[in-house]
Amino acid sequence: MTENSRIRSTGPAKTQVRPRTEGWTQKTDESGRPLLQFASPKRGKPPVHLADLTPAERAEKVKELGLPGFRAKQLSTHYFTHYTSDPAHMTDLPAAQRDELVAGMLPPLLTEVRRLETDKGDTIKFLWRLHDGALVESVLMRYPGRITLCVSSQAGCGMNCPFCATGQAGLTRNMSTAEIIEQIVRANRLIANGELGGKKADDHSMERVSNIVFMGMGEPLANYKRVMDAVRIMVAPQPDGLGMSARGITVSTVGLVPAIRKLADENIPVTFALSLHAPDDHLRDELIPVNSRWKVDEALDAAREYYEKTGRRVSIEYALIKDMNDHAWRADLLAEKLNQRGRGWVHVNPIPLNPTPGSVWTSSEKDVTDEFVRRLNDAGIPTTLRDTRGKEIDGACGQLVATTEDEAAAAAVNAAQPR
Ligand code: SF4
Repeated sequence: MTENSRIRSTGPAKTQVRPRTEGWTQKTDESGRPLLQFASPKRGKPPVHLADLTPAERAEKVKELGLPGFRAKQLSTHYFTHYTSDPAHMTDLPAAQRDELVAGMLPPLLTEVRRLETDKGDTIKFLWRLHDGALVESVLMRYPGRITLCVSSQAGCGMNCPFCATGQAGLTRNMSTAEIIEQIVRANRLIANGELGGKKADDHSMERVSNIVFMGMGEPLANYKRVMDAVRIMVAPQPDGLGMSARGITVSTVGLVPAIRKLADENIPVTFALSLHAPDDHLRDELIPVNSRWKVDEALDAAREYYEKTGRRVSIEYALIKDMNDHAWRADLLAEKLNQRGRGWVHVNPIPLNPTPGSVWTSSEKDVTDEFVRRLNDAGIPTTLRDTRGKEIDGACGQLVATTEDEAAAAAVNAAQPR
């Protein structure tokens, strides 16, 4: 059966809703193509920070500040191993120059505006204000045996996905490498202070973030260079970087095909996730506007190439949206397209949609969800329904967007703190 005949044969058995029928209008550019913002709007750059520099550049900059280059290593140890930017804790640095050195190398990047926690305190959402007032968020989650941080890579997002609160607000700007890294350092500091809930009383291990998912605000591959520089710092051994395992880092994309190919050539075995959300171009053109540039088959081919080059099994993310993309035939079509490209290379993670506030879009019914998962599993595609952790504090994928209340809180922080 062809894709088109499947679409025609959906029949009266199950409704088909579309972004258009829900009142969403695709914004278009001058040429009539869906509006996508790949380039970051020009705004003042954040101050240069130790985490923006290579170890050699750090030593050079310390020399410019009038101190011997080896002081850069000491600063890196404080930042990447002890998670501190506080000169009072850096007693191994000369007292007379310490404040100036820290101000030059570790300028403040993120001001905490708001923190929301679940009852048990094992999920925390942070709202951060950047130096220019832009707002971003990250979500810290404790799971059995791991601590995951969902990080933002851009303030806002230019990909305009209709179901996503962040996408509807547009792209404010790319985040710098150090702004991405600082989210992890701040989370590690909080964990070291015992502020993340859910730890067992008899667990005396030193804990820190073990897994990173680039599923906060932004399309990571639209900010490719800074995201990859951040990944290199995450995996660099301490004290030059955070000493994390590449396998615990998930880079996701809605399908920027040339950037997926570039990622496959980086030789860093991160986990790669493709946010597909529909196996047919007919729907995906509306659901994921970047599909107007790179179609489903092109994105899947690039994902398969990622597997071939890295040996790393690819994740396919699929937000299940009631009557939009949750039809049984779509599960079959997805399985068919994945199996056409070989066996054992891919894993599917359906996730019930987190409805955008004020939107009529909602997550699929349980029986529909179960049937979708069953069909994929029966076709030999390992499929696991993903946890919707963070949903209750609007911290799940597609929900990270500052509210008016957040803006007001940020304004209050702005007023209280000199830039
Ligand atoms: S779903 Fe992801 S890529 Fe799409 S607009 Fe939202 S943040 Fe951007």
